[in-house]
Amino acid sequence: MHRPRSIPRGLAASAMLACGVLAACQKKAPETGATPRPSASGNSPGGPVAGGLPGTPGPATPGGAPGGGQAPASLAALAAAAAGGSEPQPRPYAAVVAPGTRTRAGLVTTHQGRGRLFFEIPASQLGRDMLLVRTLRGTQAQPGGITGTTLAGDRTIRWERRDNRVLLRGVEYRNVVTDTTNPVARAVEIVTYQPIIAAFNVEAFGRDSAPVIEVSRLFTGGVPDLIQTPGPRPTPDPSRSFVEQVASYAGNVEIEASQTFAAAPIVPSAPNPLSGLFGAPPQGTELYHYSMVRLPDAPMMPRLYDERVGFFNTRRSDFGTSEQRVARRTFVNRWRLECSDRREGDLCYPRKPITYYIDPATPAWLVEWTRRGIEEWQPAFEAAGFKQGIVARTVPRDSAAIIRGENANVSMVRWLPSATENAVGPRTVDPRSGEILDADVQMYHNIMNLQRAWYFSQVGHLDARAQKLPFPDSLMGRLVQFVVAHEVGHTIGLRHDMKGSSMYPMDSVRSRTWVARMGHSPSIMDYSRFNYVAQPEDNIASATWCRASGRTTSSPSCGATSRSSRPARPTRRRPRSTGGRACRTRCPGSASAATRGSGAPTRGRPTRRWATRTRCARPRSA
Ligand SMILES: [Zn+2]
Repeated sequence: MHRPRSIPRGLAASAMLACGVLAACQKKAPETGATPRPSASGNSPGGPVAGGLPGTPGPATPGGAPGGGQAPASLAALAAAAAGGSEPQPRPYAAVVAPGTRTRAGLVTTHQGRGRLFFEIPASQLGRDMLLVRTLRGTQAQPGGITGTTLAGDRTIRWERRDNRVLLRGVEYRNVVTDTTNPVARAVEIVTYQPIIAAFNVEAFGRDSAPVIEVSRLFTGGVPDLIQTPGPRPTPDPSRSFVEQVASYAGNVEIEASQTFAAAPIVPSAPNPLSGLFGAPPQGTELYHYSMVRLPDAPMMPRLYDERVGFFNTRRSDFGTSEQRVARRTFVNRWRLECSDRREGDLCYPRKPITYYIDPATPAWLVEWTRRGIEEWQPAFEAAGFKQGIVARTVPRDSAAIIRGENANVSMVRWLPSATENAVGPRTVDPRSGEILDADVQMYHNIMNLQRAWYFSQVGHLDARAQKLPFPDSLMGRLVQFVVAHEVGHTIGLRHDMKGSSMYPMDSVRSRTWVARMGHSPSIMDYSRFNYVAQPEDNIASATWCRASGRTTSSPSCGATSRSSRPARPTRRRPRSTGGRACRTRCPGSASAATRGSGAPTRGRPTRRWATRTRCARPRSA
């Protein structure tokens, strides 16, 4: 499941011009000492607004201004009305954030009460790029239905204040100028004008002039741009749609809302091919999770994509090169791994390892297999110079934070109650750099049925354990581990390489000694799941029928149950001093290129706009 991302242009400074200074003079001053005066910040965009502002923008939900009734119109407001527009009139803070409202401080301060949700956006967060990720969390039970799927993808957004309104802009990074001193950079800034998704009245001003706006309609279907689904869907009925839960943290805000849809229009000529896949009912009430997370302050240094190595990637057009053309730049999607000061031999521990939580909903007997599937990648990261670059964690019971897979800053191997025989490994990427910010493997319960069918049909004649149903837990657990490892491979940026199944000659994969040393396939990222080429007379041990992600040799048995059967650590490690940016030779299928050269402030490394092209040596085993 790959969601291609667009990439940076030079930031939209054009939206941050000086008009806000003049506009601020028209604002109505707060009426109490507890309500600070709005500052004349530069957050108001300059220039005309595409499409114009609505005459009386505000909440779509009934009730008008919080607390009922509007403040008396000022002369400025009357003048604005006479000119064809009506300037919103902020009210005293206490009149909007009434007693009994639940307030949570964080990236934005949220106020929830009486069926309404307000954002109090600190000035420091205005104009900042954030990701808004929408996930289907609950729906009516349907055969094959899939929840936990990011339906609308993610969208980069930016809150901007314009007088007594706050605009929500969509942000795209398709066109860039890498040399910002190039005059064409100004042209790109002007041409790339970010759309306004929604406009909100400032209901009040909080501390340090933070505008307070009601955002209920964002999450109950009042903003069609944020209700994207795979097929034709009606707009949610606001009278049957509600904000359910809100949690705010330093870097993210999590919101859950139920949305009720009427029956979808029937379009016989355009059937929705994804309706069965996503299991979205034509009508009914669904629970959606919105995760709004701030993008990193400093974008990671991108790495140029090398088409020989199968990474998911991000593309953009560069108008600032000397190539006498619009150059296409493609960056790989990868995690940001940076060395800490803690070392072990020639390996370093990362400052922040890639951490996957194991879904508490995972069947208990599969938790250990899931952990193994995640950490099976550790040898590949060691080959890239990182000790415990990727780790598995269980969700702590006493955690103060709500750790859910839907959160855009929590990566998780989820276990989802779906009859679909599949698993997927989607990622959320910083559009500016290709940095993977979040990844959630989605294991559908019926993946076990698919694995059983595959294993039985491919190597059942070789393995007595597969000749009786149900499979023993030790075998099915290993098969689930295999799937987890494959999907984790996707979530660290690796595509199907479609090379692993063709790199070894047939007589080699039928050779007991060869397979014991090399495995039957050099990559877990192909569909060469099991060694179905081997014949009974080849006497190949079952230990080599499953492909492991970490190493070509010493692959764990498909029935392994002990930690000692985990993939052996590689015996050869490249010294970091020579590490540079060349990936280990076992890619494609190696995590090396995903983790090296992250743009971290590595000592002695020259500053560059992006990492150099990945150099991959020829696979030793080929
Ligand atoms: Zn796959």
